[in-house]
Amino acid sequence: MSDPLLSVRELSLAFRSRGRSLQALAAVDLDVAEGETFALVGESGSGKTTLGRCIVRLYRPDSGSIRFDGHDITRLEGEPLRRVRRQVQMVFQDPYLSLNPRKPVRRIIGDVLRAHGERDPGRIAARVRDMLEHVGLSPDHADRTPQAFSGGQRQRIGIARALALQPKLIVADEPVSALDVSIQAQIVNLLVALQAEYRLTYLFIAHDLGLVRQIADHVGILYLGRMVESGACDGVFARPMHPYTEALLSAVPLPDPRAAQARSRIVLRGDPPNPADPPPGCPFHTRCAYARDLCRRVVPPPVVHADGRKVACHFPLNAGADAQGRALAAVGAAA
Ligand code: SF4
Repeated sequence: MSDPLLSVRELSLAFRSRGRSLQALAAVDLDVAEGETFALVGESGSGKTTLGRCIVRLYRPDSGSIRFDGHDITRLEGEPLRRVRRQVQMVFQDPYLSLNPRKPVRRIIGDVLRAHGERDPGRIAARVRDMLEHVGLSPDHADRTPQAFSGGQRQRIGIARALALQPKLIVADEPVSALDVSIQAQIVNLLVALQAEYRLTYLFIAHDLGLVRQIADHVGILYLGRMVESGACDGVFARPMHPYTEALLSAVPLPDPRAAQARSRIVLRGDPPNPADPPPGCPFHTRCAYARDLCRRVVPPPVVHADGRKVACHFPLNAGADAQGRALAAVGAAA
């Protein structure tokens, strides 16, 4: 990959409450190239929304770094942070909660422009109209409040708000999961069309791997705040190397009924462990069908494999002896 637009290294964040510490992110790495879609996938509580919020700097990480467009933005504050926020915008999961129900649409979108220094009412009004048209709404909608719109239309307003400043990177936090299935495809198609039109880069947070396969170039799988596998979608979907990825993929519907019949679904045992009290060793070992003694004792570090994929597993699947040896050598164990 040439210089990525977004590069995250060793990012960690713990939330502290009543004397307890909950490790939400543990040494997460990720790179996103300009113009591509990187999907972040994981169960509820895996840390994917927390990671998205660190990247837009709604949360401040404890350690690690976030580089955007060649600049370290990890600890920016004040005016320098505001300048970065022009370039890094977020689309939120719930279009019912993320829009102020009392403000008309022209103010919801116009306030973003005003907050970033635009003062000319004519230019603001023109930009609002333009954005509404680009997301498939009518400029006449500008005077209505969010209650007048359906869920899909509200999400279009949320997307228009995110695009108003012409950002380079959009962090889309499960942007269709709160919508009716019939509307989801329309919003996904809109995001894809806008990406082509504006050369946008997306960090797309999702739990639906079927959707991820359609839209993403790269995918990262999070489990208990750790990136357990990341790489190009084609490789990860064809040959998952982490047992957690394998289990998630086994639940994705296949279009070919014969292939679907031939595949066996892997049902994970139990719930994810409590992030406030994670198990020792590999965080997935309590649910992993392949766990061995080493897994219960030693945390597997991420290891880069031949196809560029990073996998945090002592005994990666669908991999030759070389890959297995590389994984074990990373912790000083014999193959
Ligand atoms: Fe399973 Fe062990 Fe790999 Fe963890 S390190 S995913 S327990 S095989």
